[in-house]
Amino acid sequence: MDERQQLQAWDRRYFWHPFTQMQSFGDDDPWIIGHAEGNYVYELDGRRCLDAIASLWCNIHGHRHPRLDAALAAQLGKVAHSTTLGASNPPAILLAKALVEISPRGLEHCFFSEDGAEAVEIAVKMAAHYWRNVGRPEKQIFVTLENAYHGDTVGAVSVGGIPLFHEVYGHLLFPTLRLPSPYGLARERFAAPTGDSSAAAAAWLAELESLLAARGHEIAALILEAGIQGAAGLLPFSPGILAGAQALCRRFDCLLIVDEVATGFGRSGKLFACEWEDVEPDLMALGKGLSGGYLPLAATLATAAVYRSFLAPFGGARQFYHGHTYTGNPLACAVALENLAIFREGEVLAQLPAKIARLRDGLTAFRDQPWVGAVRQFGMMAAIELRNPSTAQAYPYGERVEYQVCRQAREMGVYTRPLGDAITIVPPLSVTEEEIDTILTVLHTAMSQGSHP
Ligand SMILES: *Cc1c(COP(=O)(O)O)cnc(C)c1O
Repeated sequence: MDERQQLQAWDRRYFWHPFTQMQSFGDDDPWIIGHAEGNYVYELDGRRCLDAIASLWCNIHGHRHPRLDAALAAQLGKVAHSTTLGASNPPAILLAKALVEISPRGLEHCFFSEDGAEAVEIAVKMAAHYWRNVGRPEKQIFVTLENAYHGDTVGAVSVGGIPLFHEVYGHLLFPTLRLPSPYGLARERFAAPTGDSSAAAAAWLAELESLLAARGHEIAALILEAGIQGAAGLLPFSPGILAGAQALCRRFDCLLIVDEVATGFGRSGKLFACEWEDVEPDLMALGKGLSGGYLPLAATLATAAVYRSFLAPFGGARQFYHGHTYTGNPLACAVALENLAIFREGEVLAQLPAKIARLRDGLTAFRDQPWVGAVRQFGMMAAIELRNPSTAQAYPYGERVEYQVCRQAREMGVYTRPLGDAITIVPPLSVTEEEIDTILTVLHTAMSQGSHP
């Protein structure tokens, strides 16, 4: 047994992987990534792959970016961690200020955590607590969306809408009011992604309006992903949904929580996806790309109104009862500050329109193929549904054909993962236009003549 085989054996024996059926873990030769450089990851045996999944959507400027590495090393020379309960540290202070300055108007205060799910749970707790603080404790119900994904902790699953999770953990979750998925409604009634998207947006907003009109007095907040339901298969909203939802929340006096965990930091083509429709949420969750894909770091941003409702003389039940051991970790905050410094120089965002167009052009080669269902794109995220050409349906779930296609792509040097029946493309923003072509060419080959019949 060589070193790699030994590690694979220990991996199977000891390491319980996320979202993984461990009984078959190992059947498809899972990669052990030993190092990475730029837009590429390297298997222990030296095989190199383009990282077309951005280490699960969080890598922004590539791996081992000299400036991010240097920022981390510099902070390591000072202190790796100290608590922010009753104390503070320079990177966390500077990052809170920087995030307030660049985030949508109205967001004035920043609460740190480690993962996207926590950022969402914190927003949910803040919203519920806010209504108690302002003397309207009857406003406690959350409006959520079918197909929504906000993370895997119990509160985040409660406000999510992935049926499988609700079936398995339903008895642990708090009840919510559920609206249709905007993309699901648009697909069923308006032939999305090609149909009349403004009619689809209007129909969805009408459902939200009637719910808020009937129950608004007991609703605390509406929670939405920022323009696209990510984990459900990259399902974009019709334009107008976010802005329309904000207008209705204002009218019926409900808070708007926007989850920008997946879309924040350039993924949509703007720094935050909210900017496309000038949306100014009451609470916003950030994660994934916040540290450039380096360290677990998340943040919940709140308006002055929400924040001020928690202010009271010492000793009341007003303060926000939440915190984690590593809240505001200086290493993570230092690397996030450098991530923002790179964005501030402007080049990353300036180059995105050309890259997004290149991706859009390349995706046309997939349209109307017998082995493809819908093709979807939202900024630097794309999904291509795989179809069985002989049935025009998705392959049965258990056959794992999408995994075989991704495995074949990996053998050809492109690393990605499926989401349900869709093959996903979510590269680091530092991906070049030539590398976008490579990803698309490889996926075209793997999907068209891949391991499926
Ligand atoms: C990934 C994701 C989360 C959860 O973030 P974790 O860091 O995995 O907990 C929440 N919301 C959205 C939209 C996400 O894509």
